[in-house]
Amino acid sequence: MAHTARFCFILLMLSWLILSTDKGFSPTNLLIALVTIALVAAACLWLLPVLASHSQSNNYLLTPATSWLFQLWPGLRQWFTSTELLITLLSLVLVLVRSFMQANNSQIALLVAWLSLVILHCINQLAPNQLVVITLAIIVCIAVIRDSFAMAFKDELTGIPSRRALMQYVQTLGRKYTLVMADIDHFKKFNDTYGHDVGDEVLKLVASKLNKVTGGGKAFRYGGEEFIMLFAGKSSKDVIPHVEAIRELIADYDIALRAKPRPPKPEQKTPSKPAKDKIVKVTTSFGVAEKTSEHSDFATIMKQADIALYAAKKAGRNCVKMAKQ
Ligand code: GH3
Ligand code: MG
Ligand code: MG
Repeated sequence: MAHTARFCFILLMLSWLILSTDKGFSPTNLLIALVTIALVAAACLWLLPVLASHSQSNNYLLTPATSWLFQLWPGLRQWFTSTELLITLLSLVLVLVRSFMQANNSQIALLVAWLSLVILHCINQLAPNQLVVITLAIIVCIAVIRDSFAMAFKDELTGIPSRRALMQYVQTLGRKYTLVMADIDHFKKFNDTYGHDVGDEVLKLVASKLNKVTGGGKAFRYGGEEFIMLFAGKSSKDVIPHVEAIRELIADYDIALRAKPRPPKPEQKTPSKPAKDKIVKVTTSFGVAEKTSEHSDFATIMKQADIALYAAKKAGRNCVKMAKQ
């Protein structure tokens, strides 16, 4: 592959990787990827040289934009041919658009790889330098590993640490800690009344409140509408005020449900008044259990917290109950 074709190919492939979202592995996606690679390679090998020679014979450098840039900054000619400049500009626009929309670790790494490639091209270091290729590959690998790690230990819906993260955090806890089990009250009814989507939004809201718990607590989504908070080095008595504060925070929060605009009746001439947002509330019950000499393993403490939570539900919900010591 000629130098220009190789540069354009790598740049376009990197832009494509930055732009594309993760769609998982499937035969269709693999086929799409292979076709894209083949099309980009064909475009770089045959289409770009044809375009370049055509534009030169018509006395402009590929596009008015690149001609204008070369006139504005003649120094650019020592770094880019007109084809390379056009592809770099095109790719820069695509990459910037994507970076402003959303950037995760992998995309930032690809962006670094993209920038490195352009800089190395400008300082004439792009000759098959294995060190460069290996460095770029390592950057991308580290980013992918970091994203996979975040994916495995973060709950997808609420964004707070997941059950897997909880099980790992438990290993790091010392001899003294308190576990709090939280469960949203009448959540099934809430879903049935307002819909699963609204239910999901409420789950996110409750998770974000629990995540702000004071007193050194750490919140995890255990599953469904159940959450766990762990307080390292704290007794039940220490944590109760913090749990009460969170319970009140959730119970007092006004959840505004967007009212759907009503369709106008056929005979109605003036448009009906916009429907008002509806304010609803959710409450949460909490069961608190502390590690003791009697209840020392995690499974038993969970069981104790679950019993306390059941007591809170029985006591009318929206309250905090402590396990019997
Ligand atoms: P209680 O006060 O006794 O806890 O009653 P409840 O209705 O909250 O308890 P139940 O266990 O009967 O129902 C839990 C509900 O939580 C059922 C399920 O539809 C809902 N749920 C679990 N996970 C999710 C989720 O990810 N999104 C939504 N929207 N709902 C969920
Ligand atoms: Mg439940
Ligand atoms: Mg519940």
